Amino acid sequence: MNVADCLFCRIAGGEIPADVIYSDPEMVAFRDINPQAPTHVLIIPRKHIASVAALDSAEAGLMGRLFLVARDLAQEEGIAEDGYRMVVNAGPDGGQTVFHVHLHLLGGRALKWPPG
Ligand code: 5GP
Ligand code: ZN
Repeated sequence: MNVADCLFCRIAGGEIPADVIYSDPEMVAFRDINPQAPTHVLIIPRKHIASVAALDSAEAGLMGRLFLVARDLAQEEGIAEDGYRMVVNAGPDGGQTVFHVHLHLLGGRALKWPPG
């Protein structure tokens, strides 16, 4: 897919509005439009990477920082003490619907396991 057509590239570029709660030169975090928990934030790299399946080893640091930003946002959202879940869906069976890597941060209620 063309990067210009990618929904999350367009959100990162400010072309499509979103409830952005964090932004830096490498990544952006915004609230999910269809939240599955009281806190449901998506953390994405600005760089277009279609899926974790398409990750290059050179992107290991970037992905590590994605988790650190999510961890810090959990603190800011007030869910760090009770706990939260970070999820990456990949491919059809994983339930991936947007093909730009994103980390879901979910919390604010007790989450079930297995996820279904
Ligand atoms: P996936 O299913 O690919 O893991 O997650 C994609 C997520 O993006 C879904 O939770 C969905 O609700 C969210 N999403 C889809 N379109 C938009 C949008 O236009 N804005 C926002 N903020 N979230 C979106
Ligand atoms: Zn993209």
